[in-house]
Amino acid sequence: MDPHRKIILIAGPILLTGVCFLLTLGSAKDSRSAVPRQISVDVVSPLKNDVQSRLRQACENVAQEIQTQLDRSNTVLIRPPFVLAGDMPEDVLERLHRDVVQPTERALNVGFFDVPPTEPITIVAFAKEAGFRDFARRVDRRQPDSYYGYYLRSHRRLVVNVSTGAGTLAHELTHALAHFDFPNMPEWFDEGLASVFEQSEFSDTGHRLTGTDNWRVHQVLRALHDNRLRKTDELVQGRSVRANHESIDYAHARYICLFLQDQQLLEPFYRKLRSRAEIDPSGWQTLREVVASETASDIDADFRRWIVKYHKAQRQRTARNDRQTLSMKPIESTDSRPEAIATNK
Ligand SMILES: [Zn+2]
Repeated sequence: MDPHRKIILIAGPILLTGVCFLLTLGSAKDSRSAVPRQISVDVVSPLKNDVQSRLRQACENVAQEIQTQLDRSNTVLIRPPFVLAGDMPEDVLERLHRDVVQPTERALNVGFFDVPPTEPITIVAFAKEAGFRDFARRVDRRQPDSYYGYYLRSHRRLVVNVSTGAGTLAHELTHALAHFDFPNMPEWFDEGLASVFEQSEFSDTGHRLTGTDNWRVHQVLRALHDNRLRKTDELVQGRSVRANHESIDYAHARYICLFLQDQQLLEPFYRKLRSRAEIDPSGWQTLREVVASETASDIDADFRRWIVKYHKAQRQRTARNDRQTLSMKPIESTDSRPEAIATNK
Protein backbone atom coordinates (compact mmCIF):
# COMPACT_ATOMS: atom_id res chain seq x y z
CA MET A 1 0.00 0.00 0.00
CA ASP A 2 1.13 3.48 -0.75
CA PRO A 3 2.73 4.75 2.56
CA HIS A 4 1.01 8.11 2.12
CA ARG A 5 -2.41 6.39 1.86
CA LYS A 6 -1.52 4.19 4.86
CA ILE A 7 -0.80 7.25 7.05
CA ILE A 8 -4.11 8.84 6.05
CA LEU A 9 -6.05 5.62 6.79
CA ILE A 10 -4.47 5.28 10.26
CA ALA A 11 -4.26 8.95 11.30
CA GLY A 12 -7.59 10.06 9.75
CA PRO A 13 -9.92 8.25 12.20
CA ILE A 14 -7.70 9.30 15.16
CA LEU A 15 -7.87 12.92 13.99
CA LEU A 16 -11.64 12.73 13.50
CA THR A 17 -12.10 11.19 16.95
CA GLY A 18 -10.01 14.02 18.42
CA VAL A 19 -12.06 16.69 16.67
CA CYS A 20 -15.28 15.06 17.85
CA PHE A 21 -13.90 14.89 21.41
CA LEU A 22 -13.02 18.59 21.34
CA LEU A 23 -16.43 19.47 19.94
CA THR A 24 -18.09 17.45 22.70
CA LEU A 25 -15.98 19.27 25.28
CA GLY A 26 -17.23 22.55 23.84
CA SER A 27 -20.88 21.60 24.16
CA ALA A 28 -20.28 20.29 27.67
CA LYS A 29 -18.83 23.69 28.53
CA ASP A 30 -21.94 25.39 27.07
CA SER A 31 -24.34 23.26 29.07
CA ARG A 32 -22.37 23.87 32.28
CA SER A 33 -22.41 27.60 31.64
CA ALA A 34 -26.22 27.42 31.20
CA VAL A 35 -26.71 25.86 34.64
CA PRO A 36 -25.70 28.90 36.70
CA ARG A 37 -28.10 31.07 34.65
CA GLN A 38 -30.97 28.79 35.61
CA ILE A 39 -29.90 28.77 39.23
CA SER A 40 -29.56 32.52 39.30
CA VAL A 41 -33.16 32.86 38.14
CA ASP A 42 -34.22 30.64 41.00
CA VAL A 43 -32.06 32.54 43.44
CA VAL A 44 -33.32 35.97 42.36
CA SER A 45 -36.83 35.49 43.71
CA PRO A 46 -36.82 32.57 46.14
CA LEU A 47 -39.24 34.26 48.56
CA LYS A 48 -41.71 35.26 45.87
CA ASN A 49 -41.73 31.79 44.43
CA ASP A 50 -42.01 30.34 47.89
CA VAL A 51 -45.06 32.44 48.82
CA GLN A 52 -46.69 31.73 45.48
CA SER A 53 -46.05 28.02 45.59
CA ARG A 54 -47.30 27.80 49.21
CA LEU A 55 -50.47 29.69 48.22
CA ARG A 56 -50.94 27.45 45.21
CA GLN A 57 -50.49 24.34 47.34
CA ALA A 58 -52.98 25.70 49.87
CA CYS A 59 -55.43 26.39 47.02
CA GLU A 60 -55.05 22.83 45.78
CA ASN A 61 -55.80 21.51 49.28
CA VAL A 62 -58.90 23.71 49.54
CA ALA A 63 -59.98 22.63 46.05
CA GLN A 64 -59.78 18.97 47.04
CA GLU A 65 -61.77 19.63 50.19
CA ILE A 66 -64.49 21.63 48.46
CA GLN A 67 -64.77 18.97 45.76
CA THR A 68 -65.86 16.46 48.39
CA GLN A 69 -68.67 18.83 49.46
CA LEU A 70 -70.09 19.33 45.99
CA ASP A 71 -71.94 17.25 43.50
CA ARG A 72 -69.56 15.29 41.26
CA SER A 73 -70.82 17.15 38.21
CA ASN A 74 -69.75 20.52 39.67
CA THR A 75 -66.65 22.37 38.51
CA VAL A 76 -63.65 23.46 40.58
CA LEU A 77 -61.06 25.95 39.27
CA ILE A 78 -57.80 26.96 40.91
CA ARG A 79 -56.86 30.57 40.18
CA PRO A 80 -54.68 31.62 43.15
CA PRO A 81 -55.53 33.21 45.50
CA PHE A 82 -59.01 32.03 44.47
CA VAL A 83 -60.55 28.61 44.35
CA LEU A 84 -63.77 28.83 42.36
CA ALA A 85 -66.39 26.13 42.50
CA GLY A 86 -69.92 25.87 41.28
CA ASP A 87 -72.72 24.09 39.48
CA MET A 88 -71.84 25.57 36.10
CA PRO A 89 -69.61 24.59 33.19
CA GLU A 90 -65.91 25.38 33.40
CA ASP A 91 -66.07 28.14 30.76
CA VAL A 92 -68.83 29.96 32.70
CA LEU A 93 -66.86 29.75 35.94
CA GLU A 94 -63.77 30.92 34.06
CA ARG A 95 -65.70 33.94 32.71
CA LEU A 96 -66.92 34.76 36.22
CA HIS A 97 -63.28 34.87 37.31
CA ARG A 98 -62.07 36.84 34.29
CA ASP A 99 -64.94 39.32 33.96
CA VAL A 100 -66.01 39.89 37.55
CA VAL A 101 -63.53 38.60 40.16
CA GLN A 102 -60.28 39.82 38.56
CA PRO A 103 -61.40 43.34 37.55
CA THR A 104 -63.17 43.88 40.89
CA GLU A 105 -60.11 42.73 42.83
CA ARG A 106 -57.86 44.95 40.74
CA ALA A 107 -60.02 48.06 41.18
CA LEU A 108 -60.39 47.47 44.94
CA ASN A 109 -56.63 47.06 45.25
CA VAL A 110 -56.07 50.34 43.41
CA GLY A 111 -58.54 52.16 45.63
CA PHE A 112 -58.28 50.50 49.04
CA PHE A 113 -56.39 47.32 49.75
CA ASP A 114 -52.62 47.10 50.24
CA VAL A 115 -52.30 43.63 51.76
CA PRO A 116 -52.79 40.86 49.20
CA PRO A 117 -54.40 37.57 50.17
CA THR A 118 -51.90 35.09 51.60
CA GLU A 119 -54.45 32.32 52.02
CA PRO A 120 -57.01 30.91 49.59
CA ILE A 121 -60.36 32.64 49.15
CA THR A 122 -63.00 30.14 48.12
CA ILE A 123 -65.81 31.33 45.89
CA VAL A 124 -68.72 28.92 45.67
CA ALA A 125 -71.13 30.13 42.99
CA PHE A 126 -74.51 28.66 42.16
CA ALA A 127 -76.51 29.39 39.04
CA LYS A 128 -79.82 29.19 40.90
CA GLU A 129 -81.19 29.77 44.36
CA ALA A 130 -81.92 26.08 44.99
CA GLY A 131 -78.25 25.03 44.68
CA PHE A 132 -77.17 27.98 46.83
CA ARG A 133 -79.65 27.13 49.58
CA ASP A 134 -78.75 23.45 49.51
CA PHE A 135 -75.02 24.15 49.94
CA ALA A 136 -75.63 26.72 52.69
CA ARG A 137 -77.79 24.28 54.64
CA ARG A 138 -75.76 21.12 54.03
CA VAL A 139 -72.18 22.44 54.31
CA ASP A 140 -72.37 25.70 56.29
CA ARG A 141 -75.39 24.73 58.42
CA ARG A 142 -77.27 27.88 57.47
CA GLN A 143 -80.88 28.55 56.55
CA PRO A 144 -80.62 31.22 53.87
CA ASP A 145 -84.33 31.89 53.47
CA SER A 146 -83.74 34.80 51.17
CA TYR A 147 -80.04 35.53 51.30
CA TYR A 148 -78.33 36.10 48.00
CA GLY A 149 -74.84 35.52 49.31
CA TYR A 150 -72.70 35.39 52.43
CA TYR A 151 -69.08 35.44 53.48
CA LEU A 152 -67.90 32.98 56.11
CA ARG A 153 -64.88 34.57 57.78
CA SER A 154 -63.74 31.41 59.56
CA HIS A 155 -63.32 29.62 56.21
CA ARG A 156 -62.56 32.67 54.02
CA ARG A 157 -65.38 31.35 51.87
CA LEU A 158 -68.02 33.27 49.99
CA VAL A 159 -71.11 31.57 48.70
CA VAL A 160 -73.29 33.32 46.15
CA ASN A 161 -76.38 32.83 44.05
CA VAL A 162 -75.12 34.43 40.84
CA SER A 163 -78.61 34.70 39.36
CA THR A 164 -79.00 37.74 41.64
CA GLY A 165 -76.30 39.58 39.69
CA ALA A 166 -72.54 40.12 39.66
CA GLY A 167 -73.04 42.80 42.32
CA THR A 168 -73.72 40.07 44.90
CA LEU A 169 -70.32 38.54 44.14
CA ALA A 170 -68.65 41.99 44.31
CA HIS A 171 -70.28 42.62 47.72
CA GLU A 172 -68.99 39.36 49.24
CA LEU A 173 -65.60 39.63 47.51
CA THR A 174 -65.11 43.04 49.14
CA HIS A 175 -65.62 41.41 52.57
CA ALA A 176 -63.11 38.64 51.73
CA LEU A 177 -60.38 40.99 50.46
CA ALA A 178 -60.92 43.50 53.28
CA HIS A 179 -60.51 40.63 55.75
CA PHE A 180 -56.78 40.52 54.81
CA ASP A 181 -56.24 44.25 54.58
CA PHE A 182 -58.29 45.53 57.52
CA PRO A 183 -59.41 42.58 59.66
CA ASN A 184 -60.74 44.78 62.47
CA MET A 185 -62.87 47.00 60.31
CA PRO A 186 -65.94 48.12 62.27
CA GLU A 187 -69.08 46.25 61.26
CA TRP A 188 -71.02 49.27 59.98
CA PHE A 189 -68.17 50.20 57.64
CA ASP A 190 -67.50 46.60 56.56
CA GLU A 191 -71.12 46.32 55.43
CA GLY A 192 -71.30 49.86 54.05
CA LEU A 193 -68.18 49.46 51.91
CA ALA A 194 -69.16 46.02 50.58
CA SER A 195 -72.63 47.36 49.74
CA VAL A 196 -71.15 50.24 47.75
CA PHE A 197 -69.78 47.85 45.14
CA GLU A 198 -72.91 45.72 44.74
CA GLN A 199 -74.06 48.52 42.40
CA SER A 200 -71.03 50.11 40.80
CA GLU A 201 -69.43 51.21 37.57
CA PHE A 202 -65.89 50.68 36.29
CA SER A 203 -63.95 53.66 34.92
CA ASP A 204 -63.08 53.76 31.22
CA THR A 205 -59.66 52.27 32.00
CA GLY A 206 -61.26 49.60 34.17
CA HIS A 207 -58.91 50.49 37.03
CA ARG A 208 -61.43 52.25 39.27
CA LEU A 209 -64.79 51.21 40.64
CA THR A 210 -67.39 53.76 41.73
CA GLY A 211 -70.56 52.98 43.64
CA THR A 212 -73.84 54.25 42.23
CA ASP A 213 -77.41 54.58 43.50
CA ASN A 214 -79.42 51.40 44.10
CA TRP A 215 -82.62 50.10 45.66
CA ARG A 216 -81.27 50.53 49.19
CA VAL A 217 -81.81 54.29 48.88
CA HIS A 218 -85.55 53.77 49.30
CA GLN A 219 -84.99 52.13 52.67
CA VAL A 220 -83.06 55.18 53.85
CA LEU A 221 -85.52 57.70 52.40
CA ARG A 222 -88.52 55.83 53.82
CA ALA A 223 -86.90 55.64 57.28
CA LEU A 224 -86.03 59.33 57.01
CA HIS A 225 -89.63 60.15 56.13
CA ASP A 226 -90.99 58.02 58.99
CA ASN A 227 -88.45 59.43 61.43
CA ARG A 228 -86.96 55.97 61.96
CA LEU A 229 -83.46 56.68 60.66
CA ARG A 230 -80.86 56.50 63.40
CA LYS A 231 -78.52 59.39 64.04
CA THR A 232 -75.27 58.74 62.22
CA ASP A 233 -73.27 58.71 65.47
CA GLU A 234 -75.62 56.02 66.84
CA LEU A 235 -75.10 53.88 63.74
CA VAL A 236 -71.31 54.33 63.80
CA GLN A 237 -70.78 54.04 67.53
CA GLY A 238 -73.34 51.30 68.16
CA ARG A 239 -71.80 47.97 69.12
CA SER A 240 -73.59 46.29 66.24
CA VAL A 241 -76.40 46.93 63.83
CA ARG A 242 -79.90 46.64 65.28
CA ALA A 243 -81.20 43.11 64.88
CA ASN A 244 -84.69 44.23 63.89
CA HIS A 245 -83.54 47.08 61.65
CA GLU A 246 -80.64 45.46 59.85
CA SER A 247 -81.74 46.38 56.36
CA ILE A 248 -82.18 50.07 57.26
CA ASP A 249 -78.86 50.17 59.09
CA TYR A 250 -77.05 48.46 56.22
CA ALA A 251 -78.63 50.81 53.70
CA HIS A 252 -77.72 53.75 55.96
CA ALA A 253 -74.10 52.51 56.11
CA ARG A 254 -73.97 52.17 52.31
CA TYR A 255 -75.13 55.73 51.84
CA ILE A 256 -72.72 57.12 54.46
CA CYS A 257 -70.00 55.52 52.31
CA LEU A 258 -71.45 57.05 49.13
CA PHE A 259 -71.69 60.41 50.97
CA LEU A 260 -67.92 60.13 51.50
CA GLN A 261 -67.30 58.88 47.97
CA ASP A 262 -69.21 61.84 46.52
CA GLN A 263 -66.74 64.17 48.28
CA GLN A 264 -63.68 62.12 47.19
CA LEU A 265 -63.30 61.12 50.85
CA LEU A 266 -64.08 57.40 50.89
CA GLU A 267 -60.56 56.17 50.13
CA PRO A 268 -58.83 58.66 52.49
CA PHE A 269 -61.31 57.70 55.22
CA TYR A 270 -60.58 53.99 54.70
CA ARG A 271 -56.79 54.42 54.94
CA LYS A 272 -56.94 56.83 57.88
CA LEU A 273 -59.30 54.57 59.81
CA ARG A 274 -57.21 51.49 59.07
CA SER A 275 -54.11 53.16 60.51
CA ARG A 276 -56.00 54.42 63.59
CA ALA A 277 -58.31 51.49 64.26
CA GLU A 278 -56.80 50.86 67.71
CA ILE A 279 -57.49 54.36 68.99
CA ASP A 280 -60.74 54.84 67.06
CA PRO A 281 -62.29 51.37 66.66
CA SER A 282 -65.74 52.62 65.58
CA GLY A 283 -64.37 55.23 63.17
CA TRP A 284 -66.51 58.02 64.61
CA GLN A 285 -63.64 60.44 65.38
CA THR A 286 -62.04 59.76 62.01
CA LEU A 287 -65.36 60.34 60.23
CA ARG A 288 -65.82 63.68 61.98
CA GLU A 289 -62.30 64.76 61.12
CA VAL A 290 -62.53 63.69 57.49
CA VAL A 291 -65.79 65.52 56.83
CA ALA A 292 -64.56 68.46 58.97
CA SER A 293 -67.78 68.54 60.94
CA GLU A 294 -68.01 70.52 64.16
CA THR A 295 -70.83 68.50 65.70
CA ALA A 296 -72.64 65.19 65.30
CA SER A 297 -75.82 67.02 64.31
CA ASP A 298 -73.91 68.80 61.51
CA ILE A 299 -73.00 65.45 59.96
CA ASP A 300 -76.59 64.29 60.19
CA ALA A 301 -78.02 67.44 58.71
CA ASP A 302 -75.46 67.40 55.87
CA PHE A 303 -76.06 63.70 55.18
CA ARG A 304 -79.86 64.04 55.12
CA ARG A 305 -79.74 66.99 52.73
CA TRP A 306 -77.17 65.25 50.56
CA ILE A 307 -79.01 61.91 50.12
CA VAL A 308 -82.16 63.56 48.76
CA LYS A 309 -80.15 65.60 46.25
CA TYR A 310 -77.91 62.67 45.32
CA HIS A 311 -80.82 60.33 44.61
CA LYS A 312 -82.51 62.98 42.48
CA ALA A 313 -79.33 63.64 40.50
CA GLN A 314 -78.71 59.90 40.00
CA ARG A 315 -82.25 59.40 38.70
CA GLN A 316 -81.68 62.10 36.12
CA ARG A 317 -78.29 60.74 35.17
CA THR A 318 -78.01 58.94 31.86
CA ALA A 319 -76.47 55.56 32.44
CA ARG A 320 -73.23 54.96 30.55
CA ASN A 321 -73.89 51.75 28.67
CA ASP A 322 -70.34 51.71 27.29
CA ARG A 323 -68.96 50.98 30.74
CA GLN A 324 -68.87 47.71 32.64
CA THR A 325 -71.19 47.78 35.62
CA LEU A 326 -71.91 45.48 38.53
CA SER A 327 -75.39 45.23 39.93
CA MET A 328 -77.50 43.24 42.33
CA LYS A 329 -81.21 42.59 42.05
CA PRO A 330 -83.38 44.28 44.67
CA ILE A 331 -83.94 42.14 47.72
CA GLU A 332 -87.64 41.55 48.07
CA SER A 333 -87.98 41.09 51.80
CA THR A 334 -86.89 43.95 54.04
CA ASP A 335 -85.50 41.44 56.51
CA SER A 336 -83.19 39.79 54.02
CA ARG A 337 -79.77 40.93 53.00
CA PRO A 338 -76.45 39.61 51.79
CA GLU A 339 -74.44 39.28 54.96
CA ALA A 340 -71.04 38.78 56.43
CA ILE A 341 -70.93 36.09 59.06
CA ALA A 342 -68.54 37.42 61.64
CA THR A 343 -67.59 34.09 63.15
CA ASN A 344 -64.01 35.24 63.77
CA LYS A 345 -64.86 38.65 65.14
ZN1 LIG B 1 -72.15 42.07 53.56
